[in-house]
Amino acid sequence: MSIARFWRETPRRYNLGGSRCLVCSTVYFPPRSVCPSCAQHRQSIGRMEPFQLSGEGEVVTYTIVHDPADGFEMQVPYILAIVKTPEGPQLTGQVVDLDPSEARIGLRVRATFRKLREEGKAGVIHYGYKFSPFTPPEGAPRPPGPAEPSPVPVAPERSAARA
Ligand SMILES: [Zn+2]
Repeated sequence: MSIARFWRETPRRYNLGGSRCLVCSTVYFPPRSVCPSCAQHRQSIGRMEPFQLSGEGEVVTYTIVHDPADGFEMQVPYILAIVKTPEGPQLTGQVVDLDPSEARIGLRVRATFRKLREEGKAGVIHYGYKFSPFTPPEGAPRPPGPAEPSPVPVAPERSAARA
């Protein structure tokens, strides 16, 4: 990724700022300007608002990565997980502060901002979100689970094109 593109994307990398459709309430991360869940996409034009994810979630699946990607040589093996947020979106990210042998589905995690990688000897450092295990405070209520995913309606013109 170029440095220019990285910096354009920085606000949402730091904030987990997504977007929410005011028509059907679906939350997106990364943010979208049009809602693909609305039967008529045009309904959502101009009705997408910024939405802040809490950064909390549960591991729904994970893999232990042994072959390092460029810039991750110091960190293998590491846990790469898909995390379901209570708001709806699923995020992919590294789980840190946990031995890979202790990774499990259903683990509660919270996004933290960490150094992702360092580019070359010039030392351009990229930051972004990673996940670390998170134990809610004693007695704290569990956040509401994600809503049942609603079926994505097939646009009439698409089914007509397929027929
Ligand atoms: Zn919508």
